[in-house]
Order: sequence, then C-alpha cells, then structure tokens
Amino acid sequence: MNELLNNIVNIVGPAAVLQGEDVTSRSDSWPPMGGCQAKAIIRPASTREVSEVLKLCHAAGQGVVTHGGLTGLVGGAHAEQDEIVLSLERMRTLEPVDTINRTITVDAGVPLQRVHEAAEGAGLLFPLDLGARGSCTIGGNIATNAGGNSVIRYGMTRDQLLGVEAVLADGTIISSLSGVIKNNTGYDLKQLFIGSEGTLGIVTRAVLRLRPLPRSSNTALVAIESFDLLGRFLADMDSALGGTLSAFEVMWNDFYRLIVGDGSKHGQPLGSDHGFYVLLESTGGHGESDKVRFEDALEEAFESELIVDAVIAQSKQQREDLRDAVRGNLFAKTLPAPAIYDAVWDTRSNVITFSALGTNAVDLFVDQFKKSFEGLRLVLIHPIARAGQVIDEALQPALTQANRSGSDAVLEQIEANQWLGTDFLLWLMHETMNAASEYAVNQPGLVVTGDSFVAYLNDRLLLAASSESGVQKVTVTGPQDHFSEVRTALQGGKEIHEAVLYMEKQEKQWKMTLKGDIFHFASFKAPAVTLEKDDITDPEMEREAVFFERMYLLEEGLQLFNSLFATFLAQRLDQGWAQKEQEIRTALSQS
Ligand SMILES: Cc1cc2nc3c(=O)[nH]c(=O)nc-3n(C[C@H](O)[C@H](O)[C@H](O)COP(=O)(O)OP(=O)(O)OC[C@H]3O[C@@H](n4cnc5c(N)ncnc54)[C@H](O)[C@@H]3O)c2cc1C
Repeated sequence: MNELLNNIVNIVGPAAVLQGEDVTSRSDSWPPMGGCQAKAIIRPASTREVSEVLKLCHAAGQGVVTHGGLTGLVGGAHAEQDEIVLSLERMRTLEPVDTINRTITVDAGVPLQRVHEAAEGAGLLFPLDLGARGSCTIGGNIATNAGGNSVIRYGMTRDQLLGVEAVLADGTIISSLSGVIKNNTGYDLKQLFIGSEGTLGIVTRAVLRLRPLPRSSNTALVAIESFDLLGRFLADMDSALGGTLSAFEVMWNDFYRLIVGDGSKHGQPLGSDHGFYVLLESTGGHGESDKVRFEDALEEAFESELIVDAVIAQSKQQREDLRDAVRGNLFAKTLPAPAIYDAVWDTRSNVITFSALGTNAVDLFVDQFKKSFEGLRLVLIHPIARAGQVIDEALQPALTQANRSGSDAVLEQIEANQWLGTDFLLWLMHETMNAASEYAVNQPGLVVTGDSFVAYLNDRLLLAASSESGVQKVTVTGPQDHFSEVRTALQGGKEIHEAVLYMEKQEKQWKMTLKGDIFHFASFKAPAVTLEKDDITDPEMEREAVFFERMYLLEEGLQLFNSLFATFLAQRLDQGWAQKEQEIRTALSQS
C-alpha cells in the first residue's frame, strides 16, 4: 500500500479502504461493463472524513471519482487505473422528517427509495421518482439533476432541494443546509452543485423539500388523431386542471399497438387506430371535486375536438394497470438516447437498425431519403466516416487517398465510395470459402481485445450490375456451401451489393443484413434475451435488466462488426490490395 493510502487508512480505518479484488469485483457503470479499475475505493462515514481524505488527495495531486448508486447511464462514475474512488455507501443517515417545515435532511448516500418511505411514513411526498429509485442516491440525483416521471408537476431535482453540504477538492467544507423555501440571503451555493456531476465537489448532505401527499388521483388514457393537437391538449389540460396535472405521457400508435397487441396482458382500453395516445394523470387534495374537474376537462377536450376517445380508470387497480401498460413496457421496448450510435427499433418487425454515426449529416441524408421514399425508416452509416473510426492512425492517409469523393456532402461521399461495401462483401465471401472465418477483436469495447470470434456470409446475397439497359439484379438464397450461383454472377460482371452476415462468439450469434452500397444494416439481430417470469422476480426490475442486457449485446455485436471491418480495411488499404483482389477473383472463378 502506498503512503497516500496508508494515510487515508489512518482517517477512515482499514475496512473502509478497498483494494485489489475488492475493487475489481465491483462495477463502476450501469449496465455493468467489467470490473472497476481504480487504485482503491474509499468509503468514508462522515463529512469530516470526506474532507480529510480529499485534503490528502489534493496535496498528492490524486484524481478522485465519486460513486453514488452507480445508476447514471452515461459513465460519469467510471474511474481509470490511476484514480481513486470515493463511495458514499456508508453515509446513509436520515434525520427525522420535519413535518412542520415539510423537509428532511439526509446523507448523500441515502437511496432515493428510503426518502420516499420516510416521507410517506410522515404523510408527505418526495416527488422525485425514477426507475432507479431503489439504488440511486440523493447525492447522485443532485449531481445529475435527475428528472424522473413527475417533472411536469413538481420539476427536476433542483426544485426539490433546499440546501446542501459539500466538500471541495481541497477538503473545504461548504455548508448551506438551509431548510427555508423563502430564502434570499445572498448567493445560493447549492445551485452550483446541482447537475455538476462531481466536478465541483462531493455533496455530502442535503435538505430536501417534501410536499403534501395527494389525497386523490385520477387517470385516463386518451386518443388523439394528430401530433399538432398534442401541444394544445397539454396546454388546455394544464390550465383546466388548475396545476394538478401530474403526468402526461405520449405514445405513438406503433408503441400503443405493441403494448396492447397479441399476448398483451393489458387488454385494449381504446381502439388501436388512432395516431397518438396520452396517459394523463392528475393528483390533488379533494377526492370528489378533483374527479369532477378531471372529467369536465376531458369533456371539454372532446367538445373542442382535441381528443377522439378516452377511458378513465375507475379504480386504483385500473389506474395501476394503465400506468403499468405504459411504463412497464418502456424499458423492454425502447432504447435510450443514442450515445455512440443511432438506433431504431422497428416495433412491428422487432428488427433493430443502427449506424455508428450521429452527426447532422446523417439527419440530412435521412431527410433526403424520406422525401424520395415516403414511409421508409432509414438509418444510415456514412461508409468512409465509419472506416475512419475503426482503422489505425497509420492507415488514415491511405483512407483519405482511397476516398473517391471530391466533396464533403454525405450523399456524394456515399455515392462515390460504394466500393467500400462491395469490396468488403467480396473479401468476406472469399474468406468464408477459404479461411477459418475466425477473427480477433481489435476494437475497444465490451469484449476483451484479442478475443476471437467467427464471421461468415450465408443465406442470402444480392448481386447487381449496371448496364445501359438498367440495373440487373440476382438474388441467391439458401445455405451457401460453395457459393456456386454467386460465383457465376460475379464472373458475369455483377458485384455483391447485399448479404446476410453471421457473427458468433461462444454460444452467442448476431445476424445482420448489410447493404453494401450505402453500408447500412437492413437488419441487425442480437442474441435473444428472455424475460424471467416467476413469483420471486420483481417484474419491473426484470424488464430493466432485460433492456440493459439487450443494449449490452447490441454493443458487443457492433464491436465485433467493427473489428471485422477493420481487419478488411487493413488489407484493402494496403498497397498489395490490387494483387490480393486479383487473387480473390481468380480463386472465385476457379473454385
Ligand atoms: C432505471 C433507470 C431509470 C432512470 N430514470 C431517470 C429519469 O427518469 N430521469 C433522470 O434524470 N435520470 C434517470 N436515470 C439516470 C439518473 O441520473 C440516475 O439514476 C441517478 O440520478 C444517479 O444517481 P446515482 O446515485 O446512481 O449516481 P452515480 O451513477 O453513482 O453517479 C452519477 C454521477 O454523479 C456523480 N456523483 C454521485 N454521487 C455524488 C455526490 N454525492 N457528490 C458529487 N457527485 C456525485 C458521479 O461521480 C457521477 O458523475 C435513470 C437511471 C436508471 C438506471
């Protein structure tokens, strides 16, 4: 143990300093992506200990990453090998609820759900609520300014916070633990820490604002025909319900059909032919009059033709069923905001299509494409950009030289560089026939670099050639043992434009259809993940787990594909490619 850690042990005690396997056996991200790499995890028990530890780290120039409940989805809690983690897991004290001022003071390591329970026990409500409530901490909520599902009524974490105590990087303790709402005394320091993700200091305690527990709750599912009417309906309901609107969750027709489709346990509360559906909720303090106001507001919306149909939940059970129908399925059926790639889940065919580029240029192309092919959903990968992302620095000049487009315009880039896709598919077919089809992972990601995987073409290939009389196409289907028909078409001057590609790693298999000319996946199927249904598994947690596992498998598949593409590019951009291509074509014509 080095000197710094020895000194830290003197402050927090040996049991509060984790090292070696105790560190690597923990994860530092959600979904988990391998063990934590930090030098050590320090678990102080008080603000004073946090301050003493930070003082030492500051003096030693030691980087520190704060850990709350590790449910942030963007890797903010990820620590590198030379960093130290400071976890607030031992700081979990809640003071009794102050029912007069409607506040509660808690340590930053307290899980959100425990605040809910404490508030409800005192007949009050802490309105911040998110799916991660059982694990995320108040410190993490403040650091990310979390939103959750009641933002429309109560606002973000910022609106639930009256005071904070935090420790700066040099160990200075800043205490601004005011419990007063009407507070105009000078600078409002807490605002600085909200949403700062640990960059300004470590939040150690907070005073939270509680609200009256609603006595009434009214819920309806409403059908609306057009997108334009949604905004007007929201504004009308907000004003008609006098500030009691607590949820307004919009579903597109596709999504609604998915929830109430075959095998759904939710039945079909409304017909499935409407453009949009809204789950509307209002919570208030006067049972009967709130109900009347809610129904009147919907009646008015009918009369002014904003909505075309509605069903109002008549019981708590029905209300929960409606909410469950929306929320419960969200995680299983949608993907979070794009990070390193764009993803579209076609809920009708259950096929996921994604690309590795999230630039405005892609949007531009998609717009152009939509104008030409109404109704088609396209996600596009700009081939040269994708190649640039996966090759080594040393190959970049060769790629620039190989780029046949004289313009930066996306459409031209794609048009001029179709050779990337056709050459890739030709190379892969040759490899499928003549090599072991085994490749090494060479791109960073979830799978360890150097691990092997198998990739090959099979099932379906589309070949095409342009001539004066138009484009001639031939589709070859079925298991491809010898690729005889494909070779004949190649000899006739056609190129492979589309093919089904399989990738396998251990017992997992990914299957994708690659459109070579625009380097776009017409489909991308990751290994299936099944939902466990039994008496002991919490269904909501299970759906979340399945969702994250799907995301994980998607990323793994993308990493394997990129590794395969990089292997090809290393040969394609090499000076010996002309000879290699000749060899491939000769081999294909002979075998
Ligand atoms: C199922 C699920 C649903 C979610 N739903 C929502 C949602 O509806 N709305 C929404 O906004 N977010 C949502 N999130 C993400 C949300 O931001 C986090 O869940 C939560 O706020 C992070 O808290 P945490 O304790 O897990 O923080 P962590 O993940 O541990 O950390 C998050 C960031 O905050 C920093 N940090 C943590 N604790 C402190 C501290 N005490 N002082 C200073 N910095 C700190 C970390 O270094 C890191 O940068 C969801 C996440 C999940 C998994």
